[in-house]
Amino acid sequence: MMPYDHAAAGFVLTFILLKIINPALMPDQIQSLLYWSLFWAVIVDWDMIISYGLMRSLKMGKVSHRSFPSHAPLPWIIFILLVYFLANSLYGKYFAVAIAGGAGSHLLVDTIEHGIMWLWPFSKKQYMLYEGPPSGQFSEEKNLLIYYAKMFRYVYMRMRSFKVGLAVVAAALVIFFGKL
Ligand SMILES: [Zn+2]
Repeated sequence: MMPYDHAAAGFVLTFILLKIINPALMPDQIQSLLYWSLFWAVIVDWDMIISYGLMRSLKMGKVSHRSFPSHAPLPWIIFILLVYFLANSLYGKYFAVAIAGGAGSHLLVDTIEHGIMWLWPFSKKQYMLYEGPPSGQFSEEKNLLIYYAKMFRYVYMRMRSFKVGLAVVAAALVIFFGKL
């Protein structure tokens, strides 16, 4: 999943959650929560920076950032509950919904074929619905731009989550421009 897929998924899930909960907030506060959901959906992948750092400093082989607790539900649930119970305004409490929609959607779509440690810390097994296409064949590519272009074309575009991503982006655009 690309950052824009994750952002769109976070937006759509938070929109649905807010429609169900129907909080007594002003329209601009709801809009602000929807914008925040984009941030929380994308921030989950920032653990990639740590995994790259680890690989370099420890000269380790491939370390998947999805094997970090930041890609497991429990730390997010604790964080969401903390925000909910520590917030002293209605907007603050519903901010927890934006985090849940953003980060929650991220873990859900990563489950399609990347794998998420749903049972962490009890198990480090990464659960996924489908095995994605092999992605190691371009690791010798020196030019980073060409590397990413090849990864996009031959790995990402062949994933099932690519189509899910397109559908989710379309749904987010309909919600946004349709002012639903
Ligand atoms: Zn991810």
